[in-house]
Amino acid sequence: MSDCIFCKIVEGQLPCNSVYEDDEVLAFHDIRPFARVHFLIIPKAHIATLADAEPAQERLLGKMLLLAPRLAKEQGLEAGFKTLVNTGRGGGQEVFHLHMHVFGGGDPVRPV
Ligand code: AMP
Ligand code: ZN
Repeated sequence: MSDCIFCKIVEGQLPCNSVYEDDEVLAFHDIRPFARVHFLIIPKAHIATLADAEPAQERLLGKMLLLAPRLAKEQGLEAGFKTLVNTGRGGGQEVFHLHMHVFGGGDPVRPV
């Protein structure tokens, strides 16, 4: 997906403030944070939305979910955090590469 900004981040063509990376998943801080801590967990493979995910990607989706509490704790959110997956235009999705928002700490600086 040559016009996808998150694919460009995965490919190293755009910078990010990385939180975690392995062969399948990347996590990085959101450029416009909702809260004191706000990062995104994305699959390296281009999946446009959660509604486009397929049964074969079940393990990958589970991995993303299980990473959320681990990375949240590493980022200082021991007391808990919120997760959000905007899906499609009607769901307020702006970047059409699947991502899970993980955020918390302090007062939200913009509504979700
Ligand atoms: P949404 O598609 O509405 O779920 O949210 C997309 C999120 O991606 C927004 O919170 C943006 O601030 C964030 N975002 C967009 N471009 C970048 C970028 N280059 N680096 C980090 N976060 C980004
Ligand atoms: Zn992409």
